[in-house]
Amino acid sequence: MKVIVADAINQQGIDNLEKVAEVVVDTNITPEELLNTISEYDAIIVRSRTKVTREVIENAEKLKIIARAGVGVDNVDVEAATEKGIMVVNAPESTSITVAEHTMGLMLSIARKITIADKSVKESKWEKSRFMGVELRNKTLGVVGMGRIGSQVVSRCKAFEMNAIVYDPYLPEKVAKQMGVQLADLNTVLKEADFITIHVPLTDETKHLISTKEIKMMKNDSYIINCARGGIIDEEALYEGLVNEEIGGAALDVYEIEPPVDNKLLTLDNIVVTPHIAASTREAQRDAAIIVANEVIEVLES
Ligand code: NAD
Repeated sequence: MKVIVADAINQQGIDNLEKVAEVVVDTNITPEELLNTISEYDAIIVRSRTKVTREVIENAEKLKIIARAGVGVDNVDVEAATEKGIMVVNAPESTSITVAEHTMGLMLSIARKITIADKSVKESKWEKSRFMGVELRNKTLGVVGMGRIGSQVVSRCKAFEMNAIVYDPYLPEKVAKQMGVQLADLNTVLKEADFITIHVPLTDETKHLISTKEIKMMKNDSYIINCARGGIIDEEALYEGLVNEEIGGAALDVYEIEPPVDNKLLTLDNIVVTPHIAASTREAQRDAAIIVANEVIEVLES
């Protein structure tokens, strides 16, 4: 059995694979090289760099499994794989805690103006009165999408003594009750929440879910955080909302276009931004590698 690891993954995953197969780690492999060598392999592991295209899949002679060490399978032609009976797996659960923790970091940063205060002190200024913040305690958290990440955010926010209301039309009332959260429609969440956090996938239904009308419904001193996908919040509408002080601030890890070159949002003070790193921790990368390695081993041994 032969496995190609085409993008960098944690060593522990590679060590596990080596117990059952010959493992070729080639994280600089070009699309042409992959196309020419894929026929040798029983399994391929990628992250986001390598594209497993229809062409690659058509050249694969004994490939049984394509594994993405992370969330989503955007870089794999799942339709082509399915047609050939090749399994496609990923590890969505590996990053839930990590993304939830990043969401907490962004929430605290906008509530306490940490990033802008940091910049000010490093510029040798001492502008204490400029950085009056707000507490999270007793604030209403509005969660849009109560899946793996949304629910981890809620449990962390409970420790901060926040009250959570949730918009997730696919979450049964009974499950919401068990989780100790109140379900509401989107308009209610927008009107009542002090902090809104987005944890839905980007779909036709969620594209620009938050646009001008929705931002106008939010409280003037409320904050919105997006660690899900760019495009769920309409960036033009968000910019207008922030400039006109219709909302208090925003924190983004994801953008409609990445990297966000010439993005007007980046010129504003009431926004905290990170470069799509919500899933980037050692633990999440290790867990993703171990989970997909185990999935590959299971398929190779079956
Ligand atoms: P999940 O599938 O466990 O949860 C998504 C939730 O959204 C589900 O409960 C679903 O019912 C709900 N939902 C779907 N459509 C909806 C709609 N139209 N309105 C309201 N709710 C809706 O996913 P997850 O693991 O919690 O991840 C959430 C998203 O976070 C992912 O789709 C991904 O795009 C994003 N993500 C981002 C990063 C990052 O690096 N920033 C990392 C991991 C995941």
